[in-house]
Amino acid sequence: MENMELKNFWEQIKAELIEVLPESAHPWIYPLEVSGYDKGILTVVTGQMMGRDLLRKNHYHQIVDVIKKISKNENADFVIIYDEKAAKNLKKENEKIQKKVLEGKLKEQAMENLSSMQSASNLNLKYKFENFVVGKSNEFAYKVTMAVAENPAKKYNPLFIYGNSGLGKTHLMQAIGHYTIFHNPKLKVKYTKTEDYVNDFISNSRNSKDTIENMSKFNKKYTNIDIILIDDIQFIESKNKTMSQMQHTFDSLYNKGKQIVITSDRVPKDIPTLTAALCSRFEMGLMVELTPPDLDTRIEIIRKLAADNDLKYTEDALKYIAMNFEKNVRELEGAFNKVSAYAEITGKALDINLAREVLKCKETDSISPDKIAEVTAEYFDVDVNDIKGTARGQKVSLARHIAIYLAREITGKSFVSIAEYYNKKHTTIMFAHDKIKKELSLKRDLAEAVREIKQVLKVI
Ligand code: ADP
Ligand code: MG
Repeated sequence: MENMELKNFWEQIKAELIEVLPESAHPWIYPLEVSGYDKGILTVVTGQMMGRDLLRKNHYHQIVDVIKKISKNENADFVIIYDEKAAKNLKKENEKIQKKVLEGKLKEQAMENLSSMQSASNLNLKYKFENFVVGKSNEFAYKVTMAVAENPAKKYNPLFIYGNSGLGKTHLMQAIGHYTIFHNPKLKVKYTKTEDYVNDFISNSRNSKDTIENMSKFNKKYTNIDIILIDDIQFIESKNKTMSQMQHTFDSLYNKGKQIVITSDRVPKDIPTLTAALCSRFEMGLMVELTPPDLDTRIEIIRKLAADNDLKYTEDALKYIAMNFEKNVRELEGAFNKVSAYAEITGKALDINLAREVLKCKETDSISPDKIAEVTAEYFDVDVNDIKGTARGQKVSLARHIAIYLAREITGKSFVSIAEYYNKKHTTIMFAHDKIKKELSLKRDLAEAVREIKQVLKVI
């Protein structure tokens, strides 16, 4: 099996093992690393001797069954190897979890927290603060989220994180969960997708002889906690009963001084199904927006991905990919993964030629600073010569700054060459670029203008 294929194969097995095995076994499963699959025998390595022994002793048959199922090989088997090097490499956090798990009293809570996030979301240990690349577009959201993690229910309650799909809402939200598990394990965290909450409510509130008991369990599950993380609230149903239940959950937690964190792809008032009562509750604390990251941040995000996977790449490949995937980090990562998979399979270098070949993006190279100035002038209804010249009016200056910013972001040309085009000092160009970049996350009108101009230029 090729490396990539092996990794995927193992990820599937691991996901299934987490499903099948009891929570007590999860801490031994997480650190396992795959090392090979040959003639139906899967080899995994662990740095935990105890994990190896316990898995072998208590779960051998369950593990073999999962491997048989995923590999579709009736004779599949596995070996777990204890490796001292892996033991040394064991990340500190894994040791921390393990320690907490072994500390007995905290064990149950830490495991419950982990498994709540795990089962609801395929929790990715990646969704931590440490793995979140901070740039202008998400700096504020990052800081606020971190403050909430450090001081739950003290600062911003509820915290409402909104922004388009693929910009890191779930990542930041779960980072609060992870932070709590590692730093504040006594607190109980619950992560839930809105649709799971709704379905859970519907199935428990259904009329039956046990309705009262079921609802009491339901209420306990969602209110007997310290931090609730409710993902994608835009999927809330408009049914009256669901709404009033959500309001009940919210109020009981809020009144007990518990932290509530909510994400959504839009602000509360733009969620048509939401009642006014819930809407005003969600707006009561702090609302923060995540906007698409700028070019440098996008490059850093995939650079990190490459580093985490020990991949070699050329700078221009990263830049090419980052320039062509601007709106959605999930798609950006997907594009990078696609190129790196091709590199791995074909043995080619991960460079701009391969990226071009694999992604076949609309070429943004053909868009010149001239074209950008022209479209920007048209958008603001000013003369393109004024943009290129020294005219000072407010509208012209703004248009000029935006055109300069876009020239840099879209063409990726150096400040010096853009300065030549504008017949200005390169420091002036840098200043204009940075000013817009900074203001984009603060001013909605500006962000909207930039987005519309890009649309005309067909770069989004
Ligand atoms: P959303 O919930 O807003 O749709 P996610 O949180 O699922 O988005 O993020 C999509 C993907 O992009 C995830 O793999 C996430 O880790 C990654 N991602 C988003 N923003 C960042 C960032 N700033 N740094 C690193 N990874 C990020
Ligand atoms: Mg999400």
